[in-house]
Amino acid sequence: MSIYWNHRVKNLSPYIPGEQPRQGGLIKLNTNENPYPPSPKVIEAIQKAAGDELRRYPDPACTELRSVIARRYAVMPEQVFAGNGSDEVLAFAFGAFFESAAGKQKALPVLFPDITYSFYPVYAQLWDIPFTPLPLAADFSITCTDYKQRSGGVVIPNPNAPTGQALSPSALVSLFRFHAQDGEGSSVVLVDEAYAAFGKDLEVAPLIHEHPNLLTVHTLSKAASLAGLRVGFAIGNQELIEGLCRVRDSFNSYTVDRLAQAGAVAALLDAPYYEEVNQKVIATRDRVSSSLRALGYEVIPSQGNFICIRSLQKSGPQFLSFLREQGILVRHFPKPRIADFLRVSIGTDAEMDRFLEACERFRAV
Ligand code: PMP
Repeated sequence: MSIYWNHRVKNLSPYIPGEQPRQGGLIKLNTNENPYPPSPKVIEAIQKAAGDELRRYPDPACTELRSVIARRYAVMPEQVFAGNGSDEVLAFAFGAFFESAAGKQKALPVLFPDITYSFYPVYAQLWDIPFTPLPLAADFSITCTDYKQRSGGVVIPNPNAPTGQALSPSALVSLFRFHAQDGEGSSVVLVDEAYAAFGKDLEVAPLIHEHPNLLTVHTLSKAASLAGLRVGFAIGNQELIEGLCRVRDSFNSYTVDRLAQAGAVAALLDAPYYEEVNQKVIATRDRVSSSLRALGYEVIPSQGNFICIRSLQKSGPQFLSFLREQGILVRHFPKPRIADFLRVSIGTDAEMDRFLEACERFRAV
């Protein structure tokens, strides 16, 4: 606490990102990064962009990047917004579409799962938006019907993190319809597709043509192996995209730098490379999930590039520190119902074999 902080800052409880260790030699399975390198075409494009042109500001509208995204998702460039990682896009979306307690008497709460990406409540708090976390079912799935109630908006990560469970596109469509039904009372349904590329037929972005209240949010951090570049984007009807631009341009017009724009364009144009890489991640996830179950661990079925697992004998913190001693970093969330689980990002086959060996040893500890 500081006497210089204003009321708003005093009341924040900021997001705590996963550890980025300085020491080498660790197997890093804690922040859902892709274990494979970005496409060589991305590196080439960034190297080409790293020249004299850096004197100049980047294109604030990210014109080329937006048109490449538009082609990929069969939408118009006016229906695409690009930002500095999807964290930024999410922060802008909360500010643009969900009502703050100060903005409207009796603002209805935004709905999202109780066990989910822990940045959502932080954004809500930052913008003073009321929210209601809705409990996941006993099997950690999202109960779609719970979200069919009047609200200030809905945020669904699909697949959810850290559980890896996903809703079907048809279940999501029923939510878009429900929340579009009563004019003034209609609200935005935000689908965070950070991990959708690792699932089976989950993408709903092309449905924006039929559902004006749908905003999908995407990132190049996971499926495009570019967490270090910081590029995310949103797809939605033109009015929603304009709303995001209004927030961005009241904050910082140049959120995506020249190198990031060049690298992101090259990544989106090299779909075959990423298709191959991500199929490998999926195959490894499925293999490791079966092996862990055979060793007696509980594994929540996952459609992401991570799995959520539990030892039936020992606590989450015990499991976490054992893995740490073995040089393996994973993520633990000290929260009710998932405190005994660990979220393990899918690494290369060699890394996951080391992880499986450690899990085998842990049974004997
Ligand atoms: N959404 C979800 C569900 C996530 O897990 C993450 C990554 N931590 C993000 C969004 C943000 O990703 P980035 O800012 O790297 O695009």
